[in-house]
Amino acid sequence: DPRLKAIKEAIRVVPHFPKPGIMFQDITTLLLDHKAFKHTVDIFVDRYRNMRIDVVAGCEARGFMFGPPIALAIGAKFVPLRKPRKLPGEVISEAYTLEYGTDCLEIHVGAVQTGERAIVIDDLVATGGTLCAAIRLLERVGAEVVECACVIGLPEIQYYFSAYSHDRPTRVLNP
Ligand code: 5GP
Repeated sequence: DPRLKAIKEAIRVVPHFPKPGIMFQDITTLLLDHKAFKHTVDIFVDRYRNMRIDVVAGCEARGFMFGPPIALAIGAKFVPLRKPRKLPGEVISEAYTLEYGTDCLEIHVGAVQTGERAIVIDDLVATGGTLCAAIRLLERVGAEVVECACVIGLPEIQYYFSAYSHDRPTRVLNP
């Protein structure tokens, strides 16, 4: 897909951020490039527009940047999956393991109905811990998670992730 080149060129790689040894994939420069940002959204919209998706769930924070335009274009609702103590209503929570320690995603009770078909959007999949927590959360409220979608996959851990979530495919643009 010729659009992937423009997307790749728009993502800035920042060495040693937020700590030494990390090559941080910075998607804020992609958001600055209207054409490349639109290409990114369009590729996902092309895939999901005819898949009867009811819910686009975005992981805080960068899933909030790609999820809403996709949801609007395919006629689905957008549901934010937030870090703890951000949502004001009644929530359910799902903890997940980080490299050091744990984190948690929360969803508002009532945001998703039993049987609704959902996709999960984030900017990047590394270990897959965030996406797996999102999947568990959505399944606990009765959604059917059709697929996860990310702009970037860190290739060295892709195999681990696909083995971990074998029955919930993850689509990664990997520009
Ligand atoms: P995982 O849970 O798959 O190990 O990590 C994925 C999460 O970490 C995503 O929510 C993603 O936003 C964030 N993340 C980790 N590394 C990077 C990075 O290099 N760039 C960006 N933009 N996000 C990252």
